[in-house]
Amino acid sequence: MAKHIFVTGGVVSSLGKGLTCASIGMLLEHRGLRVRLQKFDPYINVDPGTMSPYQHGEVYVLDDGAETDLDLGHYERFTQAPLTRDCNYTTGQIYLSVIQKERAGIHYEGRTVQVIPHVTDEIKAAVLKLVNDDVDVVITEIGGTIGDIESLPFLEAIRQFALDVGRENCLFIHLTLVPYLKAAAELKTKPTQHSVSALRQIGIQPDLLICRTEHPIPNDEKEKIALFCNVEKKAVIEERDKEFSIYEVPLSLVNNGLDEMLVKRLGLKTGSLDISDWRDLVDRVKNPAHEVRIAVVGKYMKHRDAYKSVYESLDHAGIAHRTRVVVHRVEAENVTNGAAASLLAGVDGILVPGGFGMRGIEGKIEAIRYARTRQIPFFGICLGMQCAVVEFARDVLGMEGANSTEFDRETPYPVISLMEEQEAVEQRGGTMRLGSWECLLAPDSLARKAYGKEQIRERHRHRYEFNDVYRAQFEEQGFVASGVSPDGTLVEIVELTGHPWFLAVQFHPEFKSKPTGAHPLFRDFIGAALARR
Ligand code: GLN
Repeated sequence: MAKHIFVTGGVVSSLGKGLTCASIGMLLEHRGLRVRLQKFDPYINVDPGTMSPYQHGEVYVLDDGAETDLDLGHYERFTQAPLTRDCNYTTGQIYLSVIQKERAGIHYEGRTVQVIPHVTDEIKAAVLKLVNDDVDVVITEIGGTIGDIESLPFLEAIRQFALDVGRENCLFIHLTLVPYLKAAAELKTKPTQHSVSALRQIGIQPDLLICRTEHPIPNDEKEKIALFCNVEKKAVIEERDKEFSIYEVPLSLVNNGLDEMLVKRLGLKTGSLDISDWRDLVDRVKNPAHEVRIAVVGKYMKHRDAYKSVYESLDHAGIAHRTRVVVHRVEAENVTNGAAASLLAGVDGILVPGGFGMRGIEGKIEAIRYARTRQIPFFGICLGMQCAVVEFARDVLGMEGANSTEFDRETPYPVISLMEEQEAVEQRGGTMRLGSWECLLAPDSLARKAYGKEQIRERHRHRYEFNDVYRAQFEEQGFVASGVSPDGTLVEIVELTGHPWFLAVQFHPEFKSKPTGAHPLFRDFIGAALARR
C-alpha cells in the first residue's frame, strides 16, 4: 500500500516548498523507494499556460504536453519520478471537471453540488490517480499559504484523505519560516506557532515541521516550537538558506534528521541512504575549476523564475564541465543601435530563450547578429531560434523586412509562419503544439555529435515554425536544418556552418536537463564557450 506525504506551507509564500518536496522525493528514491510527486495550485486558471511569466514564472511543459507549474521542474530535476498531467491540478481544473459532470447530468443524481463532498472528492480522486502497484510514496504539495481562503478545499480534502486511507499511512509536513529580527537579535517562532495553530483549527496536526531560517535554530527554540506546535522535538527540522546551490538542500535535510524521521514515521522498509552522487555534484558546484560568462538575452529578465529551467540547465552544463557559469541577464529591449557591443562585451556565449510577443524582438536579433558575426557561441531556444532565422534572412539572404508573422503579418518574407494546424485554433488555453515530439538529426551536425544518436524526442510549446518555402535558400548559405520531424516537414534544429558553435532549436531542451545529467546541447554550448575562453 502506498504511503502519502502532504506538504503545506505557512507564514509566507516563496519558502521553496517545491524544492523541499523535490528533495524529499530525491532522498526517498536514494533509499530505493518508488516515488510520485504532485502539486495542487489554488488559483482558478485551468493551467498556468495562459499566465504571463511575470505572474507565475516559467510554464513547465511535460512529455504529455501538460503546461504545469514550475515546481514540477524541481521534481523532475531531483527525481526519476515520471510526471504526467495528473501531477498538477489547479482549482480551475478541479471545478471544470465538477461542472462538466454536473452539466452532463448523470454523475450527481440530482443532488446539490457542493464543495464538500463533491469538490473534495474530486481532489481526493486526483491524489489517488498517482497510486498504483509500482508506487511506494506519493508526495503531494499544496500550493499557497495556510490562511488563504482559496486553498481551503484542498486542505479539507487531504484531512479527509488521511481518514480514508488511515492516518498511519499519511504524513503531514508543514514548511514554515522562522524569521530573524535584527533589532532584537533573535529568531522568532511566533509566526510558526500561528501558522500551525491555523492548520490545527482545520483539523490537520502536522507530524513534521521544516523550518526555513537564515540562522541555526538553537535547541531551546526548537523545544519551544515543538511544545507550542504539538510535535516531537526531533520533528522540528531546520532548513537553513544555502550559500552555493539549491542542490545542497537534500544534503542539509539529511544532516538535520529528516530522512530518518520520514522512514520511521511512515514505517517504510528501505535500504540505506546512498547519496554519493549528490555529494559529488555539490562538490563540483562548490569547487569549480573554470568559469564562463553567458549572456541570456530575453524579455522577462527581472523575474527570477521566468526562465527558471534555462538557468538551471546552464548550471547543469557547468557541473558537467566543473565550470562556474556566470549568467549576465540582458534585457533584450536595451540591445539596440549598437548597444550590443557594450552590453555583450566579454561574454563567452549568448543564449536567447523562448518567449511570446513583439517586445524585445529587435534586440534579440541584434544580439544574435553579434554572436554570429563575432564567432561567439550561440544557443537559441524556440523564439530564440525564430529570431536567428529572421536575423539570417535579413542580413545574409538580403530579405529586407523578413519577420515572423507573429510580429508582422504583412512581412514580404514570412520566414517564420503560423503552423498549418494552428490556423483554425481560436481558444488560447492548451492549444499550442505541445509536448514531446520526435526529431531526426543530420549526420555530421553539432546536434548529432551532442546527442550521440540519430533520433531524439524533445518537448515543444509554440504556434509558429520555420517556413519550409525558404529552406533551400538558407541551406545554400550554410544555415542548415540539422534536425527535422520524421516526415521531414518541420525544422526543429538549425545550425550555421563555419561558426564555432551556432545552434538553435524549436523545442525546449531546458525541460530535460538534470543536475546529474546535463542536457547534451547545453553541455556542448558551455563546452564551446569554455573553448573560446
Ligand atoms: N512565440 C513563438 C511561437 O509561438 C515562440 C514560442 C516559445 O518561445 N515558446 O511559436
